[in-house]
Amino acid sequence: MQLYNSATHKKDEFKTHTPGHVEMYTCGPTVYHFAHIGNLRSYIMEDVLEKTLRYVGYDVNRVMNITDVGHLTSDADEGEDKMLKGAKREHKTVMEIAQYYTDAFFSDCAKLNIKTPDVVQPATGLIDDYIRIVSTLIEKDYAYLAGGNVYFDTAKLDRYYIFNDHNEEDLAVGVREGVEEDTNKRNRNDFVLWFTKSKFEDQALKWDSPWGVGYPGWHIECSGISMKYNGEYLDLHCGGIDNAFPHHTNEIAQSESYLGHPWCPQWFHVHHLNTNDGKMSKSKGEFLTVSLLEEKGYDPLVYRFFCLQSHYRKALVFTWENLDNAAGTFNKLIGRIANLKPGGDVDETAAAPLKERFRNALENDLNTALAVTAVYDVLKAKTNDATKLAVLADFDQVLSLDLLAKAEAKRQENAKAAAAKSAGGYTIVGEGDPAIDELVMKRYEAKKAKNFAEADRIRDELKAQGITITDVPGGAKWSRG
Ligand code: AMP
Ligand code: ZN
Repeated sequence: MQLYNSATHKKDEFKTHTPGHVEMYTCGPTVYHFAHIGNLRSYIMEDVLEKTLRYVGYDVNRVMNITDVGHLTSDADEGEDKMLKGAKREHKTVMEIAQYYTDAFFSDCAKLNIKTPDVVQPATGLIDDYIRIVSTLIEKDYAYLAGGNVYFDTAKLDRYYIFNDHNEEDLAVGVREGVEEDTNKRNRNDFVLWFTKSKFEDQALKWDSPWGVGYPGWHIECSGISMKYNGEYLDLHCGGIDNAFPHHTNEIAQSESYLGHPWCPQWFHVHHLNTNDGKMSKSKGEFLTVSLLEEKGYDPLVYRFFCLQSHYRKALVFTWENLDNAAGTFNKLIGRIANLKPGGDVDETAAAPLKERFRNALENDLNTALAVTAVYDVLKAKTNDATKLAVLADFDQVLSLDLLAKAEAKRQENAKAAAAKSAGGYTIVGEGDPAIDELVMKRYEAKKAKNFAEADRIRDELKAQGITITDVPGGAKWSRG
């Protein structure tokens, strides 16, 4: 399997420390608000990656954190804790906010058929582990105490910038507009491992530590959680592209300094979902959620389909028009699958090349758009319907679009409409719209019951929709216009 690796800046052959087994880590959500559909793009693509690895035969242990402390509004060490910001906004405690938005996150994931990772760990649950790691980093002289906080000393590393060639000036965190530089730092990109005194003093959750009562920095949580559940050798680390710097860069710095050996060789970054006016962001306050999509009548899996149609390493622009297009294509696809007749023998010889095309697409840097094309190849293939359905069920282990269940629902809907069409020997010839057929049938029933007022009312209702009905022997004909 070839996968682009942000650490080497090229597509690499995917390798694991233990043959056949993948230790995988995913940066989880900061649970101070709902996940927006941009965050969920990252989780959808990471889900496809995990399922692809399983599909091609790996056994996977996937770990995810839940950020419920330490993620400050600047992504670096400035600003207030995002969790406290959420708690203040909703007049609740930080833990109430964390629980509420963690549940909301997994409920969104379920609607998008995103599998829950094997291990999910809230950051507040492993404070002792972070304290142990920070203590070791101080002992090894990679970390220092200044102004009450513990900082990681980036100057101690031969190579700090892993993902890009930018220099310190370009990436300097402290020089963002309106953010004062932290004078405790020896080097601009040194970062906090443990806070006892941030400029923001009003922290809700605090723990005792050798350096005083305080709380962990955001980056240390991911290193601590991964090392606990993935072990010392992580194979694959995932996140959205904005996490590459400073978050992942800092995770590498502290993990490798603590362990004394390389930590994670492969880094998978999903590019952003943008709107026409820029990056989607939770901190902007107004954003698109799965619930909003549902309120507007979209099936959440249409959004998953929309994401699969494009490559994870390209920015994706969200517009309602683009989503409508995806919805139209998805519904047509389900309609075509619904026309396949279940039952019969599966022809494995015919199935094999179809599966190979699908697998090749995914093994080429997770080309999901091509994997979706492979679905259409199945529909066009010269083989029986039973084989096509079996191959589609196989693909859906990775795509997770409920292709067969949706097709079955559609088949039943069609059968119901067909039954309604010729009920009681009354046959309706129309243009294939079950809703109109049903109204025509109701009009017939009203007439049969001598309820002529109702029959006329239905005729007028159909007329208002531009439908003309003509009574013919044994039934009715209808047409538009
Ligand atoms: P957060 O909840 O802010 O910690 O982010 C959760 C995940 O969503 C992280 O992996 C981010 O990198 C990712 N992310 C944030 N914004 C976007 C976006 N607009 N498009 C795709 N992924 C995003
Ligand atoms: Zn992380």
